[in-house]
Amino acid sequence: MTQNNKPLSSIAQQVMLLSEVLNNVGACIFAKDLNGKYLYANDMVLELFDTTLENVVGKDDSHFFDLNISHQLTKNDNKVLLEGVMVEQEETNYVKSSGECRIYHSVKKPLYDEERNIIGLCGISTDITEQKRLEGIVKKQKDLLNIVLDNVDAHIYMKDNQRTFKYVNSRVAALFGLPAEEVVGKKETDILPEEVAEHFYQSDKKLFETGERQTIDETVIDDDGNEHHYLSVKVPYYAEGEVPVLIGFSTEVTELYKLKEQFRKQANTDSLTNLFNRRYFVEHAEREFKRAQRNGKPLTVISIDIDHFKDINDQYGHQAGDEVLITVSKHLLPNLRSEDVLARIGGEEFAIVLPDTNLAQAKHIAERIRQQQDSIRLTGHWQGELNVQVSVGVAIMLNDDSTFDMLFSRADKALYMAKNNGRNQVYCFS
Ligand code: GH3
Ligand code: MG
Ligand code: MG
Repeated sequence: MTQNNKPLSSIAQQVMLLSEVLNNVGACIFAKDLNGKYLYANDMVLELFDTTLENVVGKDDSHFFDLNISHQLTKNDNKVLLEGVMVEQEETNYVKSSGECRIYHSVKKPLYDEERNIIGLCGISTDITEQKRLEGIVKKQKDLLNIVLDNVDAHIYMKDNQRTFKYVNSRVAALFGLPAEEVVGKKETDILPEEVAEHFYQSDKKLFETGERQTIDETVIDDDGNEHHYLSVKVPYYAEGEVPVLIGFSTEVTELYKLKEQFRKQANTDSLTNLFNRRYFVEHAEREFKRAQRNGKPLTVISIDIDHFKDINDQYGHQAGDEVLITVSKHLLPNLRSEDVLARIGGEEFAIVLPDTNLAQAKHIAERIRQQQDSIRLTGHWQGELNVQVSVGVAIMLNDDSTFDMLFSRADKALYMAKNNGRNQVYCFS
């Protein structure tokens, strides 16, 4: 019998059980005396040191660790033994037997005798080397991703279906004029003007409803009144157990947009006079023709051709001829309403399509044009004044016309009649 009146076999059983527990707890458990010599070490410690309990007990850590570089270990032990406090810290220890470096989460506490004198320490150290390695990889990948996301030429963000920002890259933060940390966690309605937030929400809503990627063109006018064009792509992202989010990529395409506009304009414009060209004229006039047919409104075409232009070229030179074309164009423009379209459709030929205009009105405009041109006296690098005259043909859309071409060729015939009748005049085909 023992002092506690328990059978010896029962104590032995309990010690065995305790030892079993300590050996299977999945961490290094140990006790050391005041001089740092081991009093106890569980199996995991013995495995680490690659030795037996007899070879550990009575020896200090200088036998098992490279203490010159395992700084935290000695420091923590001393703190527990000298100050009598508990220490909970990460330790990076270099094992002598294997030469390995292991990282531990260690908890160390003083051991006391019955008079509360410190007689040593006990500790439990959990190996977190693998966890630290994985954390390191994740951190490295995150850092790398952040470098990419913050340096890519696009606004990138993540928003949940409650309109809360989950991530913004530095470009988005700069656009909002807030640090990224202040944007994340906030709703777009807290950050953006109401109508802008609403505009974004429309495509967000569609994405969450359909689960489909959305592509939208956006035009934003900045504080200085400059137009910015963005191409935005939003893709849904679903993570298990989390609310659905979208990832948005918005790239500024202002330069591209301007270039496209420029090309489009160039394709429709005559470079000498800056008027529309024949291609655009026909395209536009065909639309007007259909619209006039639909609405039962009149549509007229005026065809203009400079008289004896070849003679101008021959007499004054090709450059003078060009200047005449530019001057004629400038004098034609003020005769137009916003809905009329004037084009240079050939060398010295022009045409105007006039929606919602009857024959009398068109004839009146044509006559005004003829008179204006006749009154021009152009001076330049040549001798004397250059007089320009034009012949003009006018035609109106008829019920029998099935294509714009039919109307257009009638205007051309009218022009031919004006020429035939002696030039510098208007001829009208009804
Ligand atoms: P008509 O009164 O019958 O219309 O006679 P016209 O001489 O005006 O007509 P024609 O068709 O015989 O000659 C047109 C001339 O316009 C021939 C061409 O060399 C010239 N021309 C065409 N395009 C240009 C241009 O861009 N610049 C210049 N300077 N001349 C051009
Ligand atoms: Mg001609
Ligand atoms: Mg001519």
